[in-house]
Amino acid sequence: MLPDVKSLSREDLEARFKSWGEPVYRVTQLLEWLYGHRVTDWDAMRNLPRSLREKLRAQFTLETLELARKQGSPDSTQKYLWRLADHSLIESVLIPANPALYGEASDRHTLCISTQVGCAYGCKFCASGLEGWKRNLQPHEIIEQVLSVERERGAEEGRAVDNIVVMGMGEPLANYDHLLKGLKILNAPWGGGIGARKITISTSGLAPQIRRLADEPLQFRLALSLHGATDEVRGKIMPVNKKYPLRELVAACEEYQAKKGRMMTLEYILIAGVNDSIEQTRPLAALAKKIFAKVNLIPYNTVEGLSWERPSEEVCEQFLEALENQNVTATLRREKGHDIDAACGQLRLKTEKELAGRADG
Ligand code: SAH
Ligand code: SF4
Repeated sequence: MLPDVKSLSREDLEARFKSWGEPVYRVTQLLEWLYGHRVTDWDAMRNLPRSLREKLRAQFTLETLELARKQGSPDSTQKYLWRLADHSLIESVLIPANPALYGEASDRHTLCISTQVGCAYGCKFCASGLEGWKRNLQPHEIIEQVLSVERERGAEEGRAVDNIVVMGMGEPLANYDHLLKGLKILNAPWGGGIGARKITISTSGLAPQIRRLADEPLQFRLALSLHGATDEVRGKIMPVNKKYPLRELVAACEEYQAKKGRMMTLEYILIAGVNDSIEQTRPLAALAKKIFAKVNLIPYNTVEGLSWERPSEEVCEQFLEALENQNVTATLRREKGHDIDAACGQLRLKTEKELAGRADG
């Protein structure tokens, strides 16, 4: 199988061009076509000699993502379901910086991207893990989510994505090498040009990889999906907690904090009757202070086929207040993103089910 040209870094490409006897400036031209103009076929690269284009065509694929389904409206949250070359489905969600709720269109957007097809970690509340893990995404499939959204929104808009959150389908740190390769290209000035501080990686808590990330020179942001501040509560909903219990996870976060000197975010989805009692705020506040983290409270989005529910607004507000009273910086997501199945993994699940239904009938 041929590698995709967008899975190669600039250095990889320079080494390849050198071995072909091609001058280095040709790499610059190639990168400009790929990431500047975001072209989708070799023949569009008009300033590259035909012989070089043929060589590239013979050595690399130039894959794009096929849009399988789209939900939402251009001035609010939009969800993209992509079909990959092997027909696997993945999702990306485009979120405007100030939702159109406030009456003004926003030109700043955050894109939530996927890193795997399915997920092996099987958190009990999550749609992405319901059908298990299928495969890791290649670097170019991670990058193409950004390029495809930008193409889809029309080239005249220039860059449509200014922030990336790696919170879509899959556990990013379980696909570490491809993730880092993809993010470095999205960050590079010759690539996506998106600042490392504008890229947030969310993990369910793979302690060894958090340590590894602490040694990376790039200043990506890190979010930890905590969802329970004691082993008892967390262990009930996140099987990964057995492998890396809180003591070990917190030690890895402390190391990350010490090396990076930056504040992490603790993601905490509020699920009715599971982790939303006021008693949970005490261990949660202690943990947040220990690793200098702020807490992001997210009312649970119901998932078809799962019986978990979001607590009432009142319970969510009380939970927030209890944290603030313990001097923790915390926010509560209040917008109604769940109108379009905003939690990642759900559109894919729905589409897979519909396709299976059609095949059965
Ligand atoms: N695997 C990584 C990143 C993808 S999940 C992780 O777990 O962090 C991104 C975030 O969405 C996680 O915090 C996850 O717990 C949360 N999430 C999953 N299902 C959800 C749901 N139904 N409602 C709200 N948040 C959900
Ligand atoms: Fe996987 Fe994250 Fe979903 Fe857990 S929450 S199953 S780690 S995608």
